Amino acid sequence: MPLPELGAGDDEEVILLGAVRTAAFESVANSDYDQAHEAWAARTGRSSMEVLGQLGGSPSWLQNDETPSCPSCARAMPIIAQLEEGPDHTTAMNFGGCGSACVFACEPCEQAAFLWQC
Ligand SMILES: [Zn+2]
Repeated sequence: MPLPELGAGDDEEVILLGAVRTAAFESVANSDYDQAHEAWAARTGRSSMEVLGQLGGSPSWLQNDETPSCPSCARAMPIIAQLEEGPDHTTAMNFGGCGSACVFACEPCEQAAFLWQC
């Protein structure tokens, strides 16, 4: 679907964000999220709090494994992404204070789930 064009005379409202955090995508060979997280911090000399999550992989649970079952087919839903709060409270996603969130999806059934732990 094409986006409408704003022309002269159209109402234009500028939305300013208070703070913005950008992210870079890095591939790592380690399939263990926690190990990859710490290895990245050691390799770069940066805080592990700067790791904003992972795409795919296996969830790193802060508490018990809560992998959801698909409400349609009842299979365990694969993880799509894990999200961390980030190092800066002005841009942090709030998952309860040092929490972590996971997005799961069962693509054949078009079902998804989002949950977080802290
Ligand atoms: Zn399903």
